[in-house]
Amino acid sequence: EAKKDPQNRIKIFQSHMLQARQLHNQIASELRGAIATGGFELEYQPVVDLSTGRPLGVEALVRWNHPVRGRVMPSDFIPMAEQTGLIIDLGRWTLSAAAHQFAEWSAELELDPGFQIRVNLSVAELQRIDLVDHVRGVLRDSGIAAESLVLEITETGLVTGGEVETYSLLALRKLGIGIEIDDFGTGYSSISYLRELPVDLVKVDRSIIATHSADGSQQEFIAAVLQLIRAAGLDAIFEGIETQEQAEQLRDLGCTGGQGFYFSKPVSPKRIAQLLHSGSRLPAAADEVDVDLT
Ligand code: C2E
Ligand code: MG
Ligand code: MG
Ligand code: MG
Repeated sequence: EAKKDPQNRIKIFQSHMLQARQLHNQIASELRGAIATGGFELEYQPVVDLSTGRPLGVEALVRWNHPVRGRVMPSDFIPMAEQTGLIIDLGRWTLSAAAHQFAEWSAELELDPGFQIRVNLSVAELQRIDLVDHVRGVLRDSGIAAESLVLEITETGLVTGGEVETYSLLALRKLGIGIEIDDFGTGYSSISYLRELPVDLVKVDRSIIATHSADGSQQEFIAAVLQLIRAAGLDAIFEGIETQEQAEQLRDLGCTGGQGFYFSKPVSPKRIAQLLHSGSRLPAAADEVDVDLT
């Protein structure tokens, strides 16, 4: 009966709103704390040359080690970090940590020439006028070459680009940094931008290979997506490759790069060092992966 009373319903609604806001504020303050105290870590997922199985590079993916909730994945805090502006500091930490990790690997392992570290960059970061200076600073501090860094920016982030974004993209490329469109195929945007934006690479979202068609047109669809990217003069990497069949299909279509659980899940830096030991091909044989080098 209490629920039928309009006044009471408003009160219940308000108390829900208050709780939601309190939770929001709590998570935001926990995020802020974690940024200050080093509560994040990076996992890395290999990007593989489909014709040879050699790793072309790795993508850095951030995880939050929450004191109570345990390991929190990016989909559960990146949106909040973006809403609150905390993504700027988090992004800075990520870029710096990834660059320093790459420098360490370069010194310890025999990386293939052309091996690259890829870092996700959110739109908010791209909109900062000081982005280019910041990136330059990270390259200097870590000592890594601009050519070994690729910044991944989502399609949605790129198309809305104004003057600052365009300036930054051009300046970053001039430094020698690779720019990649991430999650291609999810942005519902005009495809003409593929030819207009200063980018080098396109990473095709996993929904493109994960969508199954009953009539067997899947193969043709993937081939057409690949052709479209090539016609724009760009190279393609397909993400979300989970089976040998998918990997072979893409290889046969002449696609250069692939990424997905079939080759390796995102793993710790230590595991990456094992996977990258000289001559390794992915997917690695189970016994090879289990060797403990420490
Ligand atoms: P993304 O950049 O598209 O990264 C690829 C995501 O797909 C990763 O999820 C990865 O674990 C997952 N994935 C890779 N291979 C497969 C596969 O074969 N099958 C399936 N089902 N999934 C696969 P993750 O690590 O949860 O990251 C999610 C998103 O969070 C990323 O998507 C990226 O947009 C964002 N993100 C992660 N780290 C950062 C960061 O440091 N900064 C920013 N701004 N965004 C980040
Ligand atoms: Mg990415
Ligand atoms: Mg992606
Ligand atoms: Mg994706």
